[in-house]
Amino acid sequence: MDHFLYKNGALYAEDVPVAEIAAAVGTPFYVYSTATLLRHYHLFDEALSGMEHLVCYAMKAASNQAILKTLGDAGAGMDVVSGGEYRRARAAGIPGERIVFSGVGKTADEIRLALEGGIRQFNVESEPEMDVLNAIALGMGKVAPITIRVNPDVDAKTHAKIATGKAENKFGIPISRAKDVYAMAGAMEGLDVIGIDVHIGSQLTDLQPFELAYEKVAELTEELRADGHNIRRLDLGGGLGIPYHQSNEAPPLPSDYGALVKRTLGHLGCEIEIEPGRLIAGNAGLMVSEVIYVKEGEDREFLIIDGAMNDLIRPAMYEAHHDIIPVVEPAAGSEQTKYDIVGPVCESGDTFAKHRSMPPMQAGELVAFRSAGAYGAVMSSEYNSRPLIPEVLVKGDQFAVIRRRPTFDEMINRDTIPEWL
Ligand SMILES: *Cc1c(COP(=O)(O)O)cnc(C)c1O
Repeated sequence: MDHFLYKNGALYAEDVPVAEIAAAVGTPFYVYSTATLLRHYHLFDEALSGMEHLVCYAMKAASNQAILKTLGDAGAGMDVVSGGEYRRARAAGIPGERIVFSGVGKTADEIRLALEGGIRQFNVESEPEMDVLNAIALGMGKVAPITIRVNPDVDAKTHAKIATGKAENKFGIPISRAKDVYAMAGAMEGLDVIGIDVHIGSQLTDLQPFELAYEKVAELTEELRADGHNIRRLDLGGGLGIPYHQSNEAPPLPSDYGALVKRTLGHLGCEIEIEPGRLIAGNAGLMVSEVIYVKEGEDREFLIIDGAMNDLIRPAMYEAHHDIIPVVEPAAGSEQTKYDIVGPVCESGDTFAKHRSMPPMQAGELVAFRSAGAYGAVMSSEYNSRPLIPEVLVKGDQFAVIRRRPTFDEMINRDTIPEWL
């Protein structure tokens, strides 16, 4: 459920007409709903009630500080995957003790930054990382709290680019080697081994892969405890999928997921940590764009819009589907036509949808991409020298620009022409 609904024939973001935002900020732009963000956070929080837990929002999904502060004020922690994300979370007021540091390639500088600024735990992904972290912590006179990310070798049954839990993926250490690696970690003075981490992929629409992975984590917890490790925290990653087709998809609910966590891991008495990104932000955001031209092709019609693959890369990168709806509500039973919906960027990959049924559209009309809140703005680029598009946050009947559109000069003046040219 989200808070982007038609009212009186027009699409609203909560209580604000989307067309009013378009008039104020220009197109294309992203708009997020505070109520949807908070609703999704609370669904997870409630799903884990009865177990000690922390929901650490995977901020790579949508990392604007206004979004982070909205969730942080509600009690969320953050899962960060770079020094930039760590800094951004801190700038948004998230305390270090609620920040978890994930990622396969943490640099020494990033590790130092987090140890200095405060961190809830590092999710360590390899033995060389463990050595570096231990050495840096010892050098700083600190002890780094860690979990070790294990790769359970389960098939997440999701798009290959976002599956992370198979042996062939670069993530974590093979679960078969976990006992040895924990023994090494346990002997390092600069590390405090507090738990286990697992994250098997993104946009999972079936609970079974989670169940397989969490059963393996439960078994490992008992083995590691038998070896003398004080395993007290389990970080279960993110990955729960969202319905990208509003009409015909019903992925598992956070409550189903929470019940699964309790069933597979509840008996261990560990603190549970989860890292949802997409399910919190995905359906909390739209990308809104204007039709520039309706172009007659040889055998099809193109809807050419002012948003492009540089603004929302998911269709080009993951063959992802987004529902695309007109901002003016089509009359009930109105005629439908089929369009290829494309952006202005100079490659054919800049195609959002093929043969998509829409009511007949005209130049100047607005369309909204649903489910664009996660992995949308954060993956945008300036390809074709198109400035990054603004982000807007709605709360009730208020809206605010939370990242403005840069001017062309700001974009162009970042280049430096050498003196000798
Ligand atoms: C990307 C990622 C997540 C979030 O995944 P979603 O599918 O957005 O929930 C969580 N944890 C880690 C380690 C990640 O890399």
